[in-house]
Amino acid sequence: MADQAVTSADDAVPRDVHGGLAQEVADSTCGARVTGLCRDLAVGENLAGAGVLQHPSDRVFESRHARSVFGDHPVSPQTVAVLDDLLAANVRYAEAFDAGHLPREPARRLVVITCMDARINPAAALGLRPGDAHVLRNAGGRVSDDVIRSLVVSTGLLGVTTVIVMHHTGCGMAAISKRDVQAVLSDISEEHWEAFDLLAIEDQHQALREDVDAVLQSRLLPPLQVTGLIYDVATGRVQQML
Ligand SMILES: [Zn+2]
Repeated sequence: MADQAVTSADDAVPRDVHGGLAQEVADSTCGARVTGLCRDLAVGENLAGAGVLQHPSDRVFESRHARSVFGDHPVSPQTVAVLDDLLAANVRYAEAFDAGHLPREPARRLVVITCMDARINPAAALGLRPGDAHVLRNAGGRVSDDVIRSLVVSTGLLGVTTVIVMHHTGCGMAAISKRDVQAVLSDISEEHWEAFDLLAIEDQHQALREDVDAVLQSRLLPPLQVTGLIYDVATGRVQQML
């Protein structure tokens, strides 16, 4: 696992999983508690012995990797408790794991782009099983540059032909503006602020149309079947809009 390489023609993609993971964590400057985990698809278990996290019973601040992440900052008991719960859950998950045979290519040749909203379970809502689809999530389920980056891989290398953009009711991105974000940020340069695109949602249907069109019109992507859905967080129902 330590020598596992990620095949890519893009130098921005980490060739070494551990190096890339550590860099992603180190690059986070938001002040949130950031921990790197790596899932070994071949064995379906944590990266034991590789300096990330040794075992669910280990405290995160005892791991070599966690020290490099948190430095001299104390790790909150809440973070430790959450990680303990997650890793213990993963042990149970891995014990019953039976999907190690799945190919990398999604069986339904499908990508679902949706919001990171914690209330949405895209797989359950759409009847997807492991191996069926790529699910790309961000704030608002917007077709950002990074979503296009992933779609290039999905469609160009992994056989995806269908894209679903699934926005939802009650989205937080419809309730905030760039001004709101600016109010909670400090010490940000004008240059960085100007470059920051919040991709907030002013009109839900217009935003959905924009995101569907962004996929359809991208010069980096082949012709695709693209559908726009709205997920209702109150009922769990999905309605096809586009
Ligand atoms: Zn949302």
